Amino acid sequence: SSSRSSVIIIGAGVSGISAGKVLAENGIEDMVILEASDCIGGRIRKENFGGVSVELGAGWIAGVGGKVPNPVWELASQSGLRTCFSDYSNARYNIYDRSGKIFPSGVAADSYKKAVDSAIENLKSLEANIDGEVIEPPCSPKTPIELAIDFILHDFEMAEVEPISTYVDFGEREFLVADERGYEHLLYKMAENFLFTSEGKILDNRLKLNKNLISVGVVRELQHSRNGVVVKTEDGCVYEANYVILSASIGVLQSDLISFRPPLPGEPTLGIGIRPWGMGPWGIGAAGFFNLSLDILGFSKYHGLQPTGSLMGCCSLVAQLVDSPRASEQLRWKTEAIEKCDVMVYTKIFLKFPYKFWPCGPGKEFFIYAHERRGYYTFWQHMENAYPGSNILVVTLTNEESKRVEAQSDEETLEEAMGVLRDMFGPNVPNATSILVPRWWNNRFQRGSYSNYPIISDNQDVHDIKAPIGRIFFTGEHTSERFSGYVHGGYLAGENTEFLLKNCNGTLSENVVSGSYLF
Ligand code: FAD
Repeated sequence: SSSRSSVIIIGAGVSGISAGKVLAENGIEDMVILEASDCIGGRIRKENFGGVSVELGAGWIAGVGGKVPNPVWELASQSGLRTCFSDYSNARYNIYDRSGKIFPSGVAADSYKKAVDSAIENLKSLEANIDGEVIEPPCSPKTPIELAIDFILHDFEMAEVEPISTYVDFGEREFLVADERGYEHLLYKMAENFLFTSEGKILDNRLKLNKNLISVGVVRELQHSRNGVVVKTEDGCVYEANYVILSASIGVLQSDLISFRPPLPGEPTLGIGIRPWGMGPWGIGAAGFFNLSLDILGFSKYHGLQPTGSLMGCCSLVAQLVDSPRASEQLRWKTEAIEKCDVMVYTKIFLKFPYKFWPCGPGKEFFIYAHERRGYYTFWQHMENAYPGSNILVVTLTNEESKRVEAQSDEETLEEAMGVLRDMFGPNVPNATSILVPRWWNNRFQRGSYSNYPIISDNQDVHDIKAPIGRIFFTGEHTSERFSGYVHGGYLAGENTEFLLKNCNGTLSENVVSGSYLF
């Protein structure tokens, strides 16, 4: 089958839905949304577990209470989403060793301060290394408590070390979503504005979901030219559009799920250092047509200039150059940036018990297990604040531990978790009656939990990842310069698409296609 629309949005997570809403608000209703899974939401996803609704993906609205309102918090307030205040800074006073003793608060506070100081030193030495100085990094954590604190600091509380835009702009408070309708309720609320819904269900044939295991919405190929984009899905359908907005995660972009014809700038490889780390485009000795063009391209992206001229310049240049084999050899920036971005894997494992055996009350929501292996079932949370009487614990694993656990059976994971709980709370801890282990890493439509740009970054990578290729625009949390990794990052990135499309849809579009705007 074949049909042509103005825009195809690939992915119905928060960024895809917010892009669709903004397009509709701007009069572009003629769109198709292709979603690989069987529902909207993406990395916002709830599941019923142990009698309540648990969030397998995003769980918190982070960055609340500051001068600038967080748009996701505003949406949550308007939609009446139930949330509860969450403060995991207390976790450091609930650190258990393997024999179940809690480290005295003085020891914990000292170790914590030491870890923060050393992380700051580490950061300085990294910065200095970039500037050409060599400063020895401080010694790495070794004891179980040091390892546990290092884990919380780097995997949860980086804001203690380095200012993070989310908390600087929107405020330092965080709220846990505790609503039976799930975090995804916000997406349904947004969708209601532009898709046909009835009784909370989306019944709009512009949204193509995976139904009855038929891969209707799984995009496998994007063929783009000056005239438009042809999108091919796994079930053999062909869709055509003037523009595509691609919101698949950074992990998916790194995988081979979607192929681009012509390929993204980056293949085949030819080793020229376009932009050495931290130097920006001016590090290149510009000579000849292509180098000169690269400088112009680099300029518009490096300086993050949003005015139409530079952005369209960039657009047109890419549109022009991708057609030339020589150019695609030299323009490695896109694939390089995509490959350079780290993917964080973050796994929340839920365990249901017949009764509570852990302390509750103020300051006890989070607790830590100190083990000689970094990240081994370190970070725990009880769900009594969110759902009193639910008797559910959540343990968070990241990266290598997440991948290890994803690869084994849930029974093995349950056994490990029970061993850890019995270390902390004694041999009489009752067996969990059920376990839920999400697998974000092995999900071929996700390949990880969120993007993780290096803390010292000049934003060049995010600009490169975001830069459009001809008529294909990139959105998603990983394209948010200030809020990557967060729900509001995805939301704002999707909204920002309005700006790109408005320009490309107007008179400039012809220039974009022919490249005459620049030359
Ligand atoms: P996604 O939600 O991934 O949407 C992209 C969509 O594209 C998906 O639905 C996917 O199925 C679809 N897709 C992919 N490939 C294809 C294809 N080939 N064809 C068609 N469709 C495709 N953020 C917070 O703010 N607070 C938190 O507490 C928080 N915790 C998190 C915990 C976990 C475990 C995870 C995984 C994430 C967490 N995040 C958190 C991050 C947040 O969930 C994401 O930043 C945000 O939801 C990403 O939205 P997105 O639209 O960019 O991507």
